[in-house]
Amino acid sequence: MLKNNLEEVRRNMEAAAVRCGRNIDEVTLIAVSKTKPVEMIKEVYDLGVRDFGENKVQELVDKYDRLPHDIRWHLIGHLQTNKVKYIIDKAYLIHSVDSLKLAKEISKEAGKRGICANVLIEVNAAGEESKYGFSPDEVVDAVQEIAKLPSIYIKGLMTVAPYVAVSEENRQFFVKIRQLTVDIMQKNIDNVSMDFISMGMSGDYEVAIEEGATYIRVGTSIFGERNYNIK
Ligand SMILES: *Cc1c(COP(=O)(O)O)cnc(C)c1O
Repeated sequence: MLKNNLEEVRRNMEAAAVRCGRNIDEVTLIAVSKTKPVEMIKEVYDLGVRDFGENKVQELVDKYDRLPHDIRWHLIGHLQTNKVKYIIDKAYLIHSVDSLKLAKEISKEAGKRGICANVLIEVNAAGEESKYGFSPDEVVDAVQEIAKLPSIYIKGLMTVAPYVAVSEENRQFFVKIRQLTVDIMQKNIDNVSMDFISMGMSGDYEVAIEEGATYIRVGTSIFGERNYNIK
């Protein structure tokens, strides 16, 4: 099942890239493995995937210890400041920097270990009440502030688009994020690159690729539906 699912996602990714004249090598698939057991993750790993996404610190840390260390773990969920210390040396990329306070804590903990943390700045593109992230209006200022911190590199932007039945409805938000990366790049801020755009999930990753995503985060279409009651 996992093999077929993964093959289908890869085919769809390629087709989307071809449609918009992009090279598929520019797009990295993150398999979102939250709530899924290590056995399933290992199976997907054996099919060649090395990027996995988790939204909870404890779960990421548990899985980190039990799985091969060439996995790149992406923290994609809201991160509480008091938990930064547990993942700072385990997360390859933190996608969900949604406040200056969190960025300061990440920089502090990275500094203690003599490393620099790679992060993306989360944007609440649709302005949904239930979502984290800076509003599109705030994000340029936020990037300028966060860039001043000593042990943090901003590598791009991330967004979680609304849950919609028709993926086309999210195109406007992906376009917006892409435009914001261009605006930020033009400012030439030290310690800031816009190499990565993390957008697109099971329902809308093809549209996201068409609009410039470099990371797509796909859970359900690879691993199947999640059951939050069993672990
Ligand atoms: C769960 C999650 C995903 C994956 O969602 P699917 O719809 O299962 O593909 C992607 N991004 C974030 C931030 C998530 O929390």
